[in-house]
Amino acid sequence: MSLTKKLADERRARLAAERLLELKQAELFAANRKLGKHAAELSNEIVETRAEVANVINENKKVKSDLQVANEKIEIAERRLWLSIASIRDGFAFFDVESRMIAANPSYLSVFDGLEDVRPGITYSEILQTITDEGIFNIGDTPASEWRQMMQERWHQPTPEPIVLRLWNGEYIKLIDQRGHGGDIVSLALNITDTVRYEAKLKREQQKAEAASRAKSAFLANMSHEIRTPMNGVVGMADLLMDTSLSEEQRLFVSTIKNSGEALLVIINDVLDYSKIEADKLDLRPEPFDLERCIHEVMTLLQLSARQKGVDLIVDYDLFLPTIFVGDPGRMRQVLTNLIGNAVKFTSHGHVMVRVVGVVRNKGTEAELHITVQDTGIGIPSDKVDHIFGEFNQVDEAQNRAFEGTGLGLAITRRLIALMSGEIWVDSVEGEGSNFGLRLTLPVDENCDGLPTPLPSSIRHVLIADEAEINGQLLKRQLEQMGARVSLCGAGDKALRLAEQVDLVLIDQDLPEMAALEIAESLRARALDVPIIVLGSDLASIAGDERMMLVQGSLNKPVSRGDLFARIAQAVQQQQLVDKPSEPPAAPNLLRPMRLLAAEDNKTNRLVFSKLMNSLEMEIEFATNGEEAVALYQSFSPDIVFMDISMPKMDGKEATRHIREMELATDKQTPIVALTAHAVDGDKEGILSAGLDHYLTKPLRKAAIFEMITRYRPDDVIDPFVEDLAVADSPIDTMAQASG
Ligand code: ADP
Repeated sequence: MSLTKKLADERRARLAAERLLELKQAELFAANRKLGKHAAELSNEIVETRAEVANVINENKKVKSDLQVANEKIEIAERRLWLSIASIRDGFAFFDVESRMIAANPSYLSVFDGLEDVRPGITYSEILQTITDEGIFNIGDTPASEWRQMMQERWHQPTPEPIVLRLWNGEYIKLIDQRGHGGDIVSLALNITDTVRYEAKLKREQQKAEAASRAKSAFLANMSHEIRTPMNGVVGMADLLMDTSLSEEQRLFVSTIKNSGEALLVIINDVLDYSKIEADKLDLRPEPFDLERCIHEVMTLLQLSARQKGVDLIVDYDLFLPTIFVGDPGRMRQVLTNLIGNAVKFTSHGHVMVRVVGVVRNKGTEAELHITVQDTGIGIPSDKVDHIFGEFNQVDEAQNRAFEGTGLGLAITRRLIALMSGEIWVDSVEGEGSNFGLRLTLPVDENCDGLPTPLPSSIRHVLIADEAEINGQLLKRQLEQMGARVSLCGAGDKALRLAEQVDLVLIDQDLPEMAALEIAESLRARALDVPIIVLGSDLASIAGDERMMLVQGSLNKPVSRGDLFARIAQAVQQQQLVDKPSEPPAAPNLLRPMRLLAAEDNKTNRLVFSKLMNSLEMEIEFATNGEEAVALYQSFSPDIVFMDISMPKMDGKEATRHIREMELATDKQTPIVALTAHAVDGDKEGILSAGLDHYLTKPLRKAAIFEMITRYRPDDVIDPFVEDLAVADSPIDTMAQASG
């Protein structure tokens, strides 16, 4: 090889090596740069990580210290909690899901009186075993195993019922166990000894109080009997004395005696009722009764005092509401008498209106009734509205107050309504009037169809001449509801003009310009034969007027729907008969006097009774005890018997039983009416169940006795009242007994 070539090869090789070197140097440089960058990044990362680590370390430190604080707090809380639990008087323990005791406070453990086994770690069944082994609880006659079994079953229930156990030393523990999360049980053992003893004491006191109340009630019942008996003499004799000839002054004295006696009886009844309600002795005696009639009877009783003050009494009984319900008529009347009586008492002008509306439900078997008694009287201050329903509470507490009363009426009324499951309330504006409301639901009597009697077809247009706005409007509405056209006018001359166009005229007794009978006279003078009915609240004052012959009937205000429609039908019928020839008089029968037997041991009462009967055309025999009554029943064969209940030798109930036995062989049942001074409710049942037909409370009332005689008078006897016109003239007296 030539040198040149060699040199060239070497140069080429060197150049190649130099290029390689350059290349490698460049690579090295690049690698160096990358390395440098990496190193920088790494060192950055290291710096950041270091900072983070420092943060974490700081945080760790903080968490640790927080944890420490929290732990300390928990410890304090736990200590406090245990301190509290340990210091409470009642027992407290925890059990785990296996019913093993986790912890218990000293009170819980103290029951076991130092028994070392009873401590955390013991199971519930071991505790029960210890209890029965050591006789810790008084388990009575229950065998120990049975008792443990019962306690175990209770313990395993999801929510065990609290149970009261008696300790050996007579103390009472109430166990309340509650299952928590995961099956743990918290057990509370409350020492309720004081409460149990207090309750027992209260019960004893209550029994004592009840016994005292019963004694009080019996005392009151006896006292009322004792007061009623002499009262019978006082009121009865005063009644008789009134029928003799007396000077004005004497009449005043006698009527004062009679009124005071009757007022005293009302008070006795109030006190007696209240004491019976107090002692839970008052039971309702449901039977079918006519609510509308009941309201009218109460109104009639109050009519006299209302009329004397010029207060109108109005009854607005929903025309399409049934009237016969099943309830306690006596108690219902008592409630109504109190409310309506108060309304009349506290009203000096205007009116007292009883309104009855209702909704019939359950296929017509019951009605929710809404009865309101509204007056235009003195009203009740708003702050006294609740007060008046309390016992002996009155608005005017002053000794010299203007109105009489015991303040018991509303308290009794409220309780009676509550007994009937009803409600009572009052709305009142002082100086304007009061509105007492009652709501109660009563079964409708199955024999009551609730539909009013239709008007006779000839009555299409009716004229009402009545000055009292509300009364007239009410009548108008009722007649219109029955399909009649009604013209209403207040003045007499207008009535005269309108009467020509109508089929029936209803005239108020007290029209201002022209009295009802004058209008009747004028109409008849003009040969108008339209039926006329007089309405009034004092019909007795015109009963003797011969112009009454010109009218077809009269109706006492407030007019009841039944009476109204019946009287209209009657009046129409009468008017139609006017021109018909009268039937020839029936041949007189041979009549005998009615026979009355009265059994009464008290001499005064016998005297009162015989004086009451003085005016009657009948035969009367007296028996002084039950035995005599039975004997006289046989020999005298009375048509009616009045029977005193408490009599020596044989009482009235016993005598009645004998009489009823004797009657078994015959087909007759002589009416026997009990006369008794007993005002206790239970008596009535006893008396009626002994076979007596009726029950009259003393003092004897002429009207009540006469009504019984009238009711049971046989057809073949002389009318005992031929001579006695006073009976027919005293509807008020008759009502008095009906409600007494
Ligand atoms: P008494 O009427 O015997 O006082 P009540 O219990 O029936 O007892 O009534 C209590 C009181 O309520 C009455 O004294 C009277 O102050 C008041 N009161 C009751 N009803 C009315 C009424 N309609 N208007 C005004 N005040 C009345």
